[in-house]
Amino acid sequence: MAHAIASRRAILPRGVSPRTFARAIREFTEIVGGRNVSVSPAELVPYAHDVIMVPPIWPSAVVRPGSVEEIQRIVRVAGALRIPLWPLSTGKNIAYGRMMAVDPGNVIVDLARMNRILEVNEQLAYAVVEPGVTYAQLYKHLRDRNLPLWLDPPATAPGAGPLGNTVERGVGYTPYGEHFLFSCGMEVVLPDGRLLRTGSGALPGSRTWHIFKWGFGPYLDGLFTASNYGIVTKLGIWLMPEPPAHQPILMTCPREDDIVAIMDVLRPLKISHTLPSAVVVAHALLALAAEAEYPWHLTGGTRPVPDGWIREEARKRMLGIWNIAGCVYGSPATVAETAAAVRRTVAAALPQATVLDVEEARQSPYWDHKVRNMTGVPSMVEYSRLSWRGGGNAFVAPVVPLFGEEARRHMEIARPIFWRHGFDYIGEFIAATRDQHHVMMLLHKQPDEMERAMRCYRELTDAFCDEGYLPYRTNVAFMEHTMSRLDPVFRDVCVRIKRALDPHGILAPGKNGIRVDGAPAPRSRRRRGGTR
Ligand code: ADP
Repeated sequence: MAHAIASRRAILPRGVSPRTFARAIREFTEIVGGRNVSVSPAELVPYAHDVIMVPPIWPSAVVRPGSVEEIQRIVRVAGALRIPLWPLSTGKNIAYGRMMAVDPGNVIVDLARMNRILEVNEQLAYAVVEPGVTYAQLYKHLRDRNLPLWLDPPATAPGAGPLGNTVERGVGYTPYGEHFLFSCGMEVVLPDGRLLRTGSGALPGSRTWHIFKWGFGPYLDGLFTASNYGIVTKLGIWLMPEPPAHQPILMTCPREDDIVAIMDVLRPLKISHTLPSAVVVAHALLALAAEAEYPWHLTGGTRPVPDGWIREEARKRMLGIWNIAGCVYGSPATVAETAAAVRRTVAAALPQATVLDVEEARQSPYWDHKVRNMTGVPSMVEYSRLSWRGGGNAFVAPVVPLFGEEARRHMEIARPIFWRHGFDYIGEFIAATRDQHHVMMLLHKQPDEMERAMRCYRELTDAFCDEGYLPYRTNVAFMEHTMSRLDPVFRDVCVRIKRALDPHGILAPGKNGIRVDGAPAPRSRRRRGGTR
């Protein structure tokens, strides 16, 4: 062990001596056993990389606890020795940083071993999960027992998990797609090692921990999402009762400027919950990036993919320029009636739309993936986009009011920036209830195009923030920059909470731009061509 540490060439936590670090590793080893601690570069490789456009950020070690009590002990050692910890659950946070920390030298606390499904309550339709539970595992658990309950997987990863995804405020596509909204009751190890149960769980022996969110007193759960105030060790998630019937509604529109009419048609359907699924309106290139070869011969990697190529490739795959997927759920009669009403509304306002036959459309991987997403089945298709332009992706994800003109304006902002940097605009608008998430993929070649992608990402972030559009989430390389764009009072309150709960700043320093010594001031902390 000592030899391995010595050969790591000083990837130590900032301000921690080799001696103190060696002591921390000894103490962690006593807690979790030698097999569950590593400082070996070979084992740290996966924790140092993502597909985003930054060079590796090496942690100093990984620790894999197997119980809540072990996490409490790890946190106490870290507090005493001032060792920064970076917790993660299933570690599939692809294109947002995956398993990378903000700073080099953190000790990764990998919770994958804690993967028990602690409870599934069929009548009240909820589950309680540990951090390492994956969507694929929960899906199998429900199917194996024939339980008439659906989960809500995110688009990218069956290997991701409900706990990690919810604490990052991830989204899915069924009516339960706003994951944090449909979570209820957490258990959290605080930075001082104490155990907090949120909401109704604060009452010892509570019988309502995972069914009544608000409990008594302040609602604390939000503090442990998109932050660095605690390690979440249990989470209640509500599951959707399998509906007696459902009907996907899949449509295409042929022209780019159809986006205005599409989003305006969707707004009342979404706000009234006539269409309760998230409704994805994806540009053709987003689907093509998963299915077609990148045409290097047409672009040389410096020009946008030509329009003619997009149209031709889309035509071969039952895709329009815009591809719309929503779903209605309920009894057979209400589903038939609602689906017919949606089709009538669309036909009146969007005569240029083509409504697809669902069975036929499901022959295409893109549409099949969409139907799976909206019916609670984890699916992998979106991963294949990563290879399109050479392995790199970073999601840009500002939130926009649900108006057609706003969507058009967004494309006007985004496209020239992507194009100026030699990348394609690959985006989708995901209609939630009153907002649309404008999710764009900055696909780039690694490592050649990383610097350029970094500049492009920064410019996009700033352009959206300048116009009042905040990203709902960002990757680890841009957390501090994004926080620097927020109001000083907000930043100050985040830091004060951090100081109160984690005075030594041992938990995930810099996560979401929060550090015990302050949140970044506007436009500060520029380093290495980026903001980290
Ligand atoms: P997923 O695999 O579902 O995408 P991850 O396990 O990769 O989720 O977690 C994403 C991020 O969320 C992590 O990098 C970390 O910052 C945060 N996170 C994950 N699990 C926890 C947890 N149990 N407690 C606190 N923060 C967490």
